[in-house]
Amino acid sequence: MSANAYSATRGLQHEEPLLFEREHKAATAIALPGVSGEIAASLFAFVRKTPARIPGLSEPETVRHFVRLSQWNHGIETGFYPLGSCTMKYNPRVNEQIVRLPGLAYVHPEQPQDSVQGVLALLFELQQWLGEIAGLPHVTLQPAAGAHGELAGMMMIRAYHDARGDNKRRKVLVPDSAHGTNPASAVLAGLNTVEIKSAANGRIDLDALKANLGEDVAALMLTNPNTTGMFESDIGEICELVHRAGGLVYGDGANLNALVGIARPGDMGIDCLHINVHKTFATPHGGGGPGAGPVAVNDLLAPFLPVPRIEKNGDVYQIICEGEQSIGAVFGSLGQTGVLLRAAAYIAAFGCNDLHKIAEDAVLNANYVLARLKDVYHVPFPGLCKHECLLTDEWQERHGVKTLDIAKRLIDLGMHPMTVYFPLIVHGAMLIEPTETEAKETLDTFCDAMLEIAAQCEAGDTAILHDAPLLPFRRRLDETQAARKPVLVWNDSGFSS
Ligand SMILES: *Cc1c(COP(=O)(O)O)cnc(C)c1O
Repeated sequence: MSANAYSATRGLQHEEPLLFEREHKAATAIALPGVSGEIAASLFAFVRKTPARIPGLSEPETVRHFVRLSQWNHGIETGFYPLGSCTMKYNPRVNEQIVRLPGLAYVHPEQPQDSVQGVLALLFELQQWLGEIAGLPHVTLQPAAGAHGELAGMMMIRAYHDARGDNKRRKVLVPDSAHGTNPASAVLAGLNTVEIKSAANGRIDLDALKANLGEDVAALMLTNPNTTGMFESDIGEICELVHRAGGLVYGDGANLNALVGIARPGDMGIDCLHINVHKTFATPHGGGGPGAGPVAVNDLLAPFLPVPRIEKNGDVYQIICEGEQSIGAVFGSLGQTGVLLRAAAYIAAFGCNDLHKIAEDAVLNANYVLARLKDVYHVPFPGLCKHECLLTDEWQERHGVKTLDIAKRLIDLGMHPMTVYFPLIVHGAMLIEPTETEAKETLDTFCDAMLEIAAQCEAGDTAILHDAPLLPFRRRLDETQAARKPVLVWNDSGFSS
């Protein structure tokens, strides 16, 4: 099949100069009346000395510029978006309708509590639901992202040890497959981290764990299923070992859709878990938009939860601002209400009896992709995966083709690439997470594209893969340079940094 036969988009990118670079005449689409007489006198101090710099373009040209810019983004609503370790990319329309209801959209954080009982009731319900899903009954909705939830969790764990006078415990064990935010959050909370190697099966190495346990260990930070898409099948033993050594187990529940409604981290022995509701419960992740990372804890950590919190007293919902042992506020108000309410809407749409369908479909979709690709792409950790599947470029590398080439070629074929080069423990990683919202036909479209790329490799037809993407105006960008030396300023003599 030829390039872009697979989806309706071409190359994902468009070229669009700045308005000032396109202008072609001194006239503009804007005609402002001159100012004279009394008005001019009263505005005296404010009258411009130099003409305003308005681009010389007609109205249709200007409109087209902005409409084209609005079409630049490739998103889940344009095409398939298989990024791994990101979970939900689609945001059902009903969520948007719900959060735009005036009674939810226009409340103010400082409004009298008796005038916002509805929102408080919804947020309180969400606390209860997340507690039930996590198997950890006490929940704070405050943290504004997954990493922020990790920080709050680490602060609570530290406060817990300190409150018992056990203040030697400053070490946090972090597996080498962990998301980079894990060690960063532990360090921000004033703790230090020790890396635990993974075993050959992609799971935590129990001997390495045992060797590092001791009286200085505050916690183990564990992601389950981990970032290779594998379930930590020794989870019971892992938690027991850490607890016996006096530490706590922190669970990274950023991507919870392999477990939701089926298994509960609290039941596995995890003491504290953050949930990226902007990944697991619908709000699209990425693009720098708002998120929310509620944290659920067990009874041991409950006294240390951030305030303010919502409690229910009879029929009245109250915001509680005091907590003797609380770590204090980690956010300006109760939390990112818009994101939290979308999550509540997503959970309510399934209802407690059908929540497990999220996990079943997410895991089935990932395994379908794995099954179709496992004979042509190397699978580092064989067996069933959970919500995402991990491949590598090992077999393509023999033909000189790398993960980056494969990812760039997908752009030509009209699809956003998967997560590449993460997790770090696997050389040339390609992490694919379709989520529960994709149809089999979409998965087939993606797998067909991946199979075509592999076939081109085998046939020695590699030039096209090294040159890809061929269709976008901008092709292989120097991302390091862009991050290190961003060019942010334009004036009439051009761009400057
Ligand atoms: C995304 C992610 C995080 C961080 O969440 P943010 O909301 O981006 O801060 C942490 N851990 C894992 C496994 C993740 O996938």
